[in-house]
Amino acid sequence: MLASTAGDTDIPLLEETIGTNFARIVERFGEREALVEAAADGDAAAARRWTFRELDDDVDGLARGLLAAGVEAGERIGIWSPNCAEWTILQYATAKIGAILVNVNPAYRTHELVFVVKQNGMRTLVVAPSDKNSDYVGMAREALADCPALRELVFLPKPVRAADGAFEPGIPASPGESTWEALAARADEVPPSSVAQRAATLALGDPINIQYTSGTTGFPKGATLTHRNILNNGFAIGELLGYTEADRVVIPVPFYHCFGMVIGNLNAFSHGCATILPGRGFSPAATLKAVQDFGGTSLYGVPTMFIAELALPDFADYRLDTLRTGVMAGSLCPIEVMKRVISDMHMEDVAICYGMTETSPVSTMTRHGDSLAQRTETVGRTMPHLESKIIGAAGDTLERGQIGELCTRGYAVMAGYWDQPDKTAEAIDADGWMHTGDLARMDEDGYVIIEGRIKDMVIRGGENIYPREIEEFLYQHPSIQDVQVIGVPDQKYGEELMACIILKPGAEPLDADAIAEFCRGRLAHYKVPRYVDLRASFPMTVSGKVRKVEMREEAIARLGLHA
Ligand code: AMP
Repeated sequence: MLASTAGDTDIPLLEETIGTNFARIVERFGEREALVEAAADGDAAAARRWTFRELDDDVDGLARGLLAAGVEAGERIGIWSPNCAEWTILQYATAKIGAILVNVNPAYRTHELVFVVKQNGMRTLVVAPSDKNSDYVGMAREALADCPALRELVFLPKPVRAADGAFEPGIPASPGESTWEALAARADEVPPSSVAQRAATLALGDPINIQYTSGTTGFPKGATLTHRNILNNGFAIGELLGYTEADRVVIPVPFYHCFGMVIGNLNAFSHGCATILPGRGFSPAATLKAVQDFGGTSLYGVPTMFIAELALPDFADYRLDTLRTGVMAGSLCPIEVMKRVISDMHMEDVAICYGMTETSPVSTMTRHGDSLAQRTETVGRTMPHLESKIIGAAGDTLERGQIGELCTRGYAVMAGYWDQPDKTAEAIDADGWMHTGDLARMDEDGYVIIEGRIKDMVIRGGENIYPREIEEFLYQHPSIQDVQVIGVPDQKYGEELMACIILKPGAEPLDADAIAEFCRGRLAHYKVPRYVDLRASFPMTVSGKVRKVEMREEAIARLGLHA
């Protein structure tokens, strides 16, 4: 039997924009709770809470503020912030008026920020308050000075109950700066009907979101997703999880990735479920407390998050029996972890999702009733309305059981990489198949087993890192003649980065601290190599390619790591 399957088609696709879908849900579930944001100090009574009606009022007010500021359909608006309620409000306000939301990873530093702002011609950037780790306001001002097309910075307010002095909201100091409150207050400048007028001009095939994925070229590529892509993917996941308006979805995963804003927000809201935000960054204790305080029925995470939650010394003290389901995705889950998630966290129906940003993201998923083996050894089977196949080196479809590249086709495949038609054509072939770069096989029942990666990518604690990007950055160091970055196994993060460096003749030796210093403030922390290996040469193939696999094996033996 050939390794190719098509998902069910019994539930029709939603043929509407995100704004239209949301309006229907508000109409139906207006008085139900839509959003809970836990207070920074964990005081449950101080949480911010919205019903669907209240959320819609805030979304609408912001949408009018954006129209008053002259935002056109198709214009790019970025958000550079950890998770907060305003992220959700901006996601729906931009969708309502057809502005393209650009998710900017909050771990980015100036080098990466300036690149994405310029790459998509972003005109407005919504900026998180500065905290003790990240001076978002200062870095955004640097970017504004460096990017002529960027017209305005909008500063977000300080989180409720943040420790005093721990967060500094920006104070507008020039005409190119504003605040969230001031933007929302501009709503009165345009009539209430203006949002509906704009909405009537939008089509479900329009791009509505850009998410940057690191690329083998050394620069991130902007996966461009439409209403149809992400609304339907989110909705389908909730259908398979059996979501109803009674569900309360706890989202500790980041909004800048599809996991938060599609598997989280679009999925939950399209079913009338409440979303619960435990905090800005991931904290295992805050996550379990949010489940307990706000009655979570569904919890999300990459495997390393669940591992951290299960390892809390006071794990047994949290009341988690409201949970019934959830999503684990991003990398493979160890069987012992899955067993404990099912038994100790009460998540009997937890599902594994597999996918990538370019496919909105989920293309395969386990189903209700799947065995423990299916939920640990496989990534489930093809999602509704999508197709999967496994191909050999010549592009031929392989037989079941044979290992090859996994490809996905259907409504979830992105519109393309923003302004990079050549890169789009490398990823999506003429027949519409997205080539994932993942090695996989398909079993007799159509379940997909991930075997490895063709692409030269490292996954550290759920963050994808393309070594080429770090290599290009490190080449700028005056002492470095050549550098190769590899992933080595790590107990805590799955993988860690190692920079293998050939120094320029006469240069002073570099160590991991010196490299970290060079990266500080310019590169996201998770991309900073943990290990540095100074070498005289790299092992090469006859065709002149560096043997990274050999360097990785050497490093594992030398550092005494376990693969
Ligand atoms: P991203 O674009 O950040 O969503 O990353 C996509 C990549 O993460 C995929 O191409 C896979 O290599 C990996 N991935 C995603 N989900 C899973 C999963 N459930 N199991 C194993 N690897 C996964």
